[in-house]
Amino acid sequence: MTTSPEIRQIVEAIHARQRFVLSSHSRPDGDSIGSQLAMAYALRALGKDVEVINADPAPPPLMAFPGVPDVRIAPHADGEFDAAIIMECGDLARTGVAGLERFFVVNIDHHPGNSRFGQINWFDPGAAACGEMVFDLVCALGVSLTVEMATHIYLAILTDTGSFHYSGISPRTFDICREALLAGVDPVLVARNVYDSNNLGRLKLFGAVLSAMQIDPAGRIATVYVNHEMARAAGGTYDDTEGLVNLPLTVKEIQAVVFFKQAEGDQYRVSMRSKGLIDVGAVAKEFGGGGHRNAAGCTVTGAIETFGKLFVEKIGGAIESEDGRSAELRRWAEQEP
Ligand code: 5GP
Ligand code: MN
Repeated sequence: MTTSPEIRQIVEAIHARQRFVLSSHSRPDGDSIGSQLAMAYALRALGKDVEVINADPAPPPLMAFPGVPDVRIAPHADGEFDAAIIMECGDLARTGVAGLERFFVVNIDHHPGNSRFGQINWFDPGAAACGEMVFDLVCALGVSLTVEMATHIYLAILTDTGSFHYSGISPRTFDICREALLAGVDPVLVARNVYDSNNLGRLKLFGAVLSAMQIDPAGRIATVYVNHEMARAAGGTYDDTEGLVNLPLTVKEIQAVVFFKQAEGDQYRVSMRSKGLIDVGAVAKEFGGGGHRNAAGCTVTGAIETFGKLFVEKIGGAIESEDGRSAELRRWAEQEP
């Protein structure tokens, strides 16, 4: 287990305070929900008063997990708290919850490019999920891992690694999963709740979106697009598109995916995914977004045709520079005596 100076500072800060508000990024995913709820259960085990406030509700499949329906959905952190623990956010604005800066802020994150917005900043880009960091903190707090905490930590890891597909997985990831299972987590039940909770509208919407998928001439980049009209026609909702971006990568030749989701008018949420060393995080950053090498996103406003071409071009560039690096490595290896 890591016992960095930051963890020790956070443990001290928690022991010295009573009322906590927890938050994470808007449009929460499994890691943000799992990290927050595991923290909430751990703090309550210490006798603390805890409220979790998020800008948006959890995706419907995550509502089945303990405590998730009790998360307060609000645009403002009303109430008096001694500290705000913010997980999974590069900056405070990512929460979509106003007023958190009034409190003593503890910033816990694993995304590259964190802006260190807290009074305490604990940043571990080596963690496969923020949930791994929460596990370390739970241990450092001396709280014994309950099945609720363990379930949320396992949920965070399972979803943020794309079911153990992405880079960032380490031996520590499996050590933590082992501890989670020893604490009583049922991995089959978690997977069923996360992945086998589709409604028919979601499956039909996936069908419509994937039928309209475009592939670049080299056959390596998939572009998918959804708008409100497509969702309505399929009988699905926008929440139902969660996870869709990962599907094109199940095709062997496809190396990267860009997914455009119309927000309103000509504003689009862009999600990207890639395999191996192809860095879509750098592409997202160019457009004011962020994320990781293999999973990143941003928001753009303008003509979708232009953005479609532009992102394919940028991702193509990322693939080529990766091809270049690999070729160089091969040449270098061949030169070895
Ligand atoms: P998703 O495609 O699932 O929305 O996001 C993938 C990853 O990129 C997540 O780790 C998320 O935190 C990050 N990400 C997505 N959109 C943004 C954005 O607009 N800004 C930043 N900084 N990160 C983003
Ligand atoms: Mn995460």
